Amino acid sequence: MRRFRAARKEDTAMFQADGYHTVEEIAPRTWRIDEAGMANCYLLVGDDAALLIDSGCGAGDLQKCVSQLTRRPVIAAATHRHPDHVGGAWRFGSYYASPADIKPVYSLMCRPVFSRAMIRNFGLPRAAAAGAKRAPVLPMEDGQVFRLGGRSVSVGAVPGHTRGSVVFIDGGEKLVFTGDDINPDLWMHLPGCTSLETWLPGADRIIGIMAGGFAAWNGHGDGRQPLEQARRTRELVSELLEKRRTGALAERRGSYPSKDAGIVVRYRF
Ligand SMILES: [Zn+2]
Repeated sequence: MRRFRAARKEDTAMFQADGYHTVEEIAPRTWRIDEAGMANCYLLVGDDAALLIDSGCGAGDLQKCVSQLTRRPVIAAATHRHPDHVGGAWRFGSYYASPADIKPVYSLMCRPVFSRAMIRNFGLPRAAAAGAKRAPVLPMEDGQVFRLGGRSVSVGAVPGHTRGSVVFIDGGEKLVFTGDDINPDLWMHLPGCTSLETWLPGADRIIGIMAGGFAAWNGHGDGRQPLEQARRTRELVSELLEKRRTGALAERRGSYPSKDAGIVVRYRF
């Protein structure tokens, strides 16, 4: 993806907000915030409030970046509790997440030390995550609606990548934010991932929304999520389960169909 520094942010749909965050306007009053190529956050602004979906690893000052886009009060929420999705949430005081993700395995993974390690492993300076703190988590239910003023965003549970993974659905703009739950490089091998069987209904829910004409945006890369990719990922998971059932799969963990495939599922049985 080409990146550039705009003279004024009003001049373009994409600009560099600071040393770590690149901002792209993806729909009216909707921005993708790319955190140094590590993860995506999304900012949805209504008449009264804004919703920040995910908060990256916490490199730099996400709050300062967001303040360039809106002066409305910001509600932070997470698609799931992994350190590259909640690392910057402390700058907003607290954040919403599914109660199913408020369990020790996720709280352990979300300790600031892991967010900082990811930032360092990505080659960014240690100072990039200085001051990172844990943030209190507020429970968020399936079907909950964030009313932002002239704009409502609802929460849809899709257990899989974590037990409490959710998508955020903006019916007005026909946008769905899928976090990591149906990524082209789908990680289902981590502690706290559900079984692939448990993942399937959530995947079908997401694919159903996308098939209804919603544009999907995910947590990594350039964020764009084509329907064909989501369908292919689901197909790979079905194949994996079938091979497991018939005994055609020798390995209990691995990458399917191969670790170099363009669309791949990392699994652990
Ligand atoms: Zn994740």
